Amino acid sequence: MSVLPQSVEKVINEFSKLPGVGPKTAARMVYHYLRSPNHDAKKLADSLNDMDENVMFCDKCFNVSDKKVCDICSSPLRKNSKICIVEESLDVIAFENSAVYDGLYFVLGGVISPAEGISADDLRFKDLKKRISELMESNEQVEIIVATNPSLEGEASASYIHDMFSKEVKEGTILITRLAMGLPTGADLEYADRLTLKRALEGRRNI
Ligand SMILES: [Zn+2]
Repeated sequence: MSVLPQSVEKVINEFSKLPGVGPKTAARMVYHYLRSPNHDAKKLADSLNDMDENVMFCDKCFNVSDKKVCDICSSPLRKNSKICIVEESLDVIAFENSAVYDGLYFVLGGVISPAEGISADDLRFKDLKKRISELMESNEQVEIIVATNPSLEGEASASYIHDMFSKEVKEGTILITRLAMGLPTGADLEYADRLTLKRALEGRRNI
């Protein structure tokens, strides 16, 4: 027999799945909702539902969006000769908050990591190839800025991207750059401050 009602246990279980949240913290969060006089639990449930129903991935960059093509991809103010490849949507937020970049993005969905069983096939490389071809139609040269994290996996993914486009790089139709190492190895892009990101972007080098 369980001490807690099953419905409470179910929520604790769900909260425990969140990154950085263990069962104890999850239980504290659940008790917060149980005690809340403002129907906070209902509001949380409604907003999660709303997100689940209305948020999708942009067809072009795969960032989270409430439209088929997101505001960044459809903006005439963004330079479509530059595309910044990041691991996750959170990295796009880091760049956008720092307001140092005026090009487009592509969210890869992770990095190649043999240790975690993630191969190139699990990531959006095919979509990336398609997106770059689209951009090449309207530009003489497209710059691909590889902004995967400065980790072993991030580097492996960067060289994979380089190999993918080696022919175009030789022809000069694609330029591939990598963020400068102002970012400490193993650091997460999403936590980088504005100045660090600005320097990393300005000091990017060819690969
Ligand atoms: Zn987009």
